[in-house]
Amino acid sequence: MSLFDSITELSGVGQKRAEILKQLGILNIEDLLTYYPFRYDDLESRLPSQTDDGQKVTFKGMVSSQPTISRFGYKKSRIAFRLLIGHDNISVSFFNQPWLKEQIEIGKEMAIFGTYDAVHEALKGQRIIHAENDSLAAIYPSNQAIHQKTIQQLIENAYAKYADQINDIIPRRLMLAYRLLSRKKQIHDMHFPDSAENAKLARRSAAFEEFFIFQMRLQLMRISAGKNRGREIEYNSEILNDFIAKLPYSLTDAQKKVIQEILLDLKRPIHMNRLLQGDVGSGKTVVAAIAMLACYSAGLQAAIMVPTEILAQQHAINLSNLYQSAGLNLRIELLTSGLKAAARRQILADLESGEIDIVVGTHALIQADVHFYNLGLAVIDEQHRFGVKQRARLREQGQNPDILAMTATPIPRTLAITAYGEMDVSTIDQLPNGRRPIITKWVKSNQFDNVFDWVKTQLAAGAQVYVVTPLIEESETLDVQNAVLIYDRLKEELKPYRIGLLHGRLTNDEKQQVINDFSTNRVQVLVTTTVIEVGVDIKNATIMVILDADRFGIAQLHQLRGRVGRGKKQSYAILVSDPKTQYGIDRMEAIVSTNDGFALAEKDLKLRGPGDVIGIKQAGMPEFNVGDPIHDLKMMETAQQSAIEITSQSNWDADKENAELVKYLSLTMYRYKDFD
Ligand code: ADP
Ligand code: MG
Repeated sequence: MSLFDSITELSGVGQKRAEILKQLGILNIEDLLTYYPFRYDDLESRLPSQTDDGQKVTFKGMVSSQPTISRFGYKKSRIAFRLLIGHDNISVSFFNQPWLKEQIEIGKEMAIFGTYDAVHEALKGQRIIHAENDSLAAIYPSNQAIHQKTIQQLIENAYAKYADQINDIIPRRLMLAYRLLSRKKQIHDMHFPDSAENAKLARRSAAFEEFFIFQMRLQLMRISAGKNRGREIEYNSEILNDFIAKLPYSLTDAQKKVIQEILLDLKRPIHMNRLLQGDVGSGKTVVAAIAMLACYSAGLQAAIMVPTEILAQQHAINLSNLYQSAGLNLRIELLTSGLKAAARRQILADLESGEIDIVVGTHALIQADVHFYNLGLAVIDEQHRFGVKQRARLREQGQNPDILAMTATPIPRTLAITAYGEMDVSTIDQLPNGRRPIITKWVKSNQFDNVFDWVKTQLAAGAQVYVVTPLIEESETLDVQNAVLIYDRLKEELKPYRIGLLHGRLTNDEKQQVINDFSTNRVQVLVTTTVIEVGVDIKNATIMVILDADRFGIAQLHQLRGRVGRGKKQSYAILVSDPKTQYGIDRMEAIVSTNDGFALAEKDLKLRGPGDVIGIKQAGMPEFNVGDPIHDLKMMETAQQSAIEITSQSNWDADKENAELVKYLSLTMYRYKDFD
């Protein structure tokens, strides 16, 4: 018997139920036993006078009136009766559970769990409590196909049958140092706590386990990346210095510093795995260009992967221009999914024969049929838009090139250890000289006309303008329709200026055409959806109007705003919105208050609160089941330190102390397919 026995070893689990459990990520007993509840209902009874309005509570009392049942329409019903608790006679109702009527008789003592309405002294009943013994009921995430009760029952069965197989996996030393429960007690109390205090202690141990295992995996990734000797890239400093001297600007100190860090890594016989973070507009592209040129000068290929076609096209053009104006003749090609079959075939052939020096691409770069001649460096721009898996694919594809991932990080510094634990980090903490901070204003939609009067005067003075149309519930079709409407309207109102329209449904050639028209000032106003969000770099565009700005998150607004303010002229971002919630108002005020991406990320986190992980997920953060990496940051740090300590000992994996841990890590590998 082992915890990794298939779930079908439990009685009551056949093929069909196993399929359903699989959808919940449960394949074996271990998965089931660590399928933890997300809350507990407090079944201990209370008095109405001790209960707040809207609180979930259990009342124990005597049924004091005959239950009445009323039915409305098909399937809907309500049972109502009164329950005497001490001196309080409150009313209780159950909706849509007509069968309960049998159990309710005048004079009977009952305990009922539900939501209390203090104003009407009424309880909206959820269920009748039978068990007198346990006072906390574990509530699990479930889906349509499987009932709470079933999950509870299966976990009870699994624990009864397998409890003796549960061994401690965290080394003893750590368990003592951090006063962790034995794994058996931890699992028991997560599911069947006899007090809220015990549930809390179990959760603490379970969270530590989760963080620790995660950090162990990061360390193992680090180690395995470092094991095989990486390539020493013998770049030609003269070529690099010459290129830098011919740039139309001088590099900032911050850029110089990160370039040194990257070049050192390239030269050392290691596999570079470096994250370059720097705010929007801090000049990461030229840093990547220099790193790729270093590769080229050593006779190796380089690739840069970006999240959108538009950005790929932009980068291809910008890089060509950069190299050409320094008199360098590199062959740069674009590999996107929009390519015609013949053109694609040619590019794949030339990549494989080594005739292409630098390839710029989207996800198309990580298709199975892409082979490189000798890829030395893979750059991943806007890395938070890619999953761990996609990053890993690019690495495999190129037979383990050095990796430079870039991000205008929407992740606060405090979270970096979780998000980028396995990477070395370089930071550009300075914007190029002479940039004027973008002036950001928030206006209500009834000011829209004023905004456009002002836009007209700016257009007359030669400015170019982005108008970003709202995001409509993730529906691309609606986004597009909406953009078209606004485009039509502005075409009328802003005559004689020329308006362009950019959205996700255009073909590549059409997108390219629109961007070209805008960057050469053939059109002065670009109406666009969020396809513009990342990377696009057009210096003469100085005004960004964002409609219904409260539909966007802080990180996204900051990225959007970053499309302007790229040249020497004063730039403006105008947020048009009527937020309906305090959170919406707070977001607008945050964006107006600062241009500093790191500060905004911290603010974003505070506003959102630790419970809301959606934005964090978007930012490339892994998800956790039990622990909350924001709230329990200290614990995450401790887990990281512990993992580093363990793995830095030679032969740590042969140490008896770590035997269970090693076994556990290898047996749970299936959960981390993305990590390979
Ligand atoms: P991001 O870091 O957001 O990717 P980019 O690399 O697109 O920023 O750079 C933003 C703009 O700043 C580009 O137009 C680029 O040419 C310019 N730039 C980069 N470095 C410098 C510098 N040292 N001085 C002046 N302008 C710079
Ligand atoms: Mg960029």
